[in-house]
Amino acid sequence: MRIGRYQVHSLLTSYFSLDGGSMFGSIPKTLWEKKIQSDEKNRIPLCTRSLFLVDDDRRIIVDTGNGDKWDDKYRAIYNVDTQSVNLESSLNSLGYKVDDITDIICSHLHFDHAGGNTKIDDHGKVVPTFPYATYWIQKTNLELANHSSEKDRASYLSHNWEVLVENGMIECVDGTESYLPDIEIFVSNGHTTGQQHLILRDEKTTMFFAGDLFPTMAHIPIPWVMAYDLRPLQTIREKKSLLQKIVKEDWLVFFEHDRECEAANVKFDGKSFTIGQKFKI
Ligand SMILES: [Zn+2]
Repeated sequence: MRIGRYQVHSLLTSYFSLDGGSMFGSIPKTLWEKKIQSDEKNRIPLCTRSLFLVDDDRRIIVDTGNGDKWDDKYRAIYNVDTQSVNLESSLNSLGYKVDDITDIICSHLHFDHAGGNTKIDDHGKVVPTFPYATYWIQKTNLELANHSSEKDRASYLSHNWEVLVENGMIECVDGTESYLPDIEIFVSNGHTTGQQHLILRDEKTTMFFAGDLFPTMAHIPIPWVMAYDLRPLQTIREKKSLLQKIVKEDWLVFFEHDRECEAANVKFDGKSFTIGQKFKI
């Protein structure tokens, strides 16, 4: 799909699973299991899906998924599968290599969004996956990641960004100021501090990169908020005001973690927000 100056692709970078209860917060299982079936360990199937933007000058990847630095214990806990799909193979299938990438936009540094930022080389050393890229991160998110609390420490694994800091590859950004051509930035603070989302527009299409504000289609209804969120009431406020705009201006919402659906628009039936038409990028 083309939006303005960019050819827009979707890159599947892993399959994984997370606890269904954690994914839907205070929503009872009797309701959420009608939307996504859980496995014998109560986990629901998810994926990590990146946005890949190409123009004449740049090749930009938005989020890098779970990556491959997993030991057996945690790979089993999160059911991480980078055999069937991974960032490199998805990129190669479009005719690109990691060396071609000029920019990585990190929505936030949770492991399922930033895990592919770095990799383990042949000598067992953690190195940047994209040696020629600039990594763009909100300053407030990097600060939080470096000082995470007991609540979110398990999600912020420093091997996903430390070597980038050491090599001077991170460009810290502050708020909604645009830093790459024709890419608008929206910042939310409910899920975590300083999560950045992209808005791409042309005369025909507006696409919103939802990250963990709407991780799957099932998270469109306002009260369906993850237990992982640092500030769930703020997430609700952010969803409410964004959804009105999404419906009114007929935006396409890009889902990073939905196994079934890459993107969709949203309808309002007078009472609640629901998924409209689904799209493949
Ligand atoms: Zn997250």
